This record gives sequence, C-alpha cells and structure tokens, in this order.
Amino acid sequence: MAKGISDVSNFADRIFLQKMGEAHDTSKDFSPYSKKDFKEVKEYFNNECCFCGNNQIKLTGDHLVPINKTSLGLEAWGNIVPACSDCNSQKHSKDWVSFLFNVAGSLSKQRQKKIEEFIAKYQYSPDVDAIRIAVEELYEESGAIVLELIRLKTSRALARSKQMAEE
Ligand SMILES: [Zn+2]
Repeated sequence: MAKGISDVSNFADRIFLQKMGEAHDTSKDFSPYSKKDFKEVKEYFNNECCFCGNNQIKLTGDHLVPINKTSLGLEAWGNIVPACSDCNSQKHSKDWVSFLFNVAGSLSKQRQKKIEEFIAKYQYSPDVDAIRIAVEELYEESGAIVLELIRLKTSRALARSKQMAEE
C-alpha cells in the first residue's frame, strides 16, 4: 500500500470496529454503548481505575482490547473500562491481563476477576476470526479505492487547468 494511505485505511478500520460494536451490543439486547454510559461503567468499578485502583483523578474510558487492526477490540459494552490517565497511556496496546499484573500488585487476581465479571455481565464475546478477515479486507480495499479516486481527481484537475488555459 502506498505511503500516506495507511491513515485512511486505519481510520476505515476504526469506524468498522465501532459499527461492529454497535451490532454486537444490539445482538445482546443492549442499546449501543455511548459516552453517556461511562457513568454506569465507572460505578461498576466503584469509581476507581480498574487497573491500579486510583480514585483521586479523572477517569477516562480505556478499551480493554484496543480498537485497531491488530487487536480487533470493539466499541461495545464490556470492552470499555475506567482507567486513570497514567494507566491509559502506559497500557497502550499491551495485553490487559499482563498490564494489570504489572500495576496492581497483590490485588491483581481480585481485579482481574472483577474485570472478567464485567466482561461476562455485558456478554462481550466478538467473533474475532470473522472480524479479522473483514478488517484486513477493508484495510486493503479502502486504501485502493482512495488511491484510485486520487488518481482520477489528479487527472481531472490537470485536464481542467489545461482547458482553462486554452480558453
Ligand atoms: Zn490506574
């Protein structure tokens, strides 16, 4: 894929994973997760960072499984948890269980159980194999379509400019 087009492809994949999240929630009879639902999520975790337990600062929504073409997490109930800004930035694309064990010390097992109960409560269990295929196809095809459009627009702009010069 041409350089520069990967941003377009990554963006398309992210939108796809959001839309798949909506469909996943609907299939489990939940209304699609939205930002206003974060209050309920925070309450489930007693308004603490689900990894380190910090309750002193503003909590942000962290995707347990990141929304990108490698990790294939969805924007859906059960995949968004409260995290402090330190944990959110340090966890990045690491596996959440190993990250948790790095920051939670002796409380790791207990917090892992709480998170797993949260995932189970919202029945977060996407079909990762089917999603991977779609994400890989979309990545290639969205890049190819945009490149083709750019080629078309380039030649049209050149033709128009030439035509104007001749008039
Ligand atoms: Zn934290």
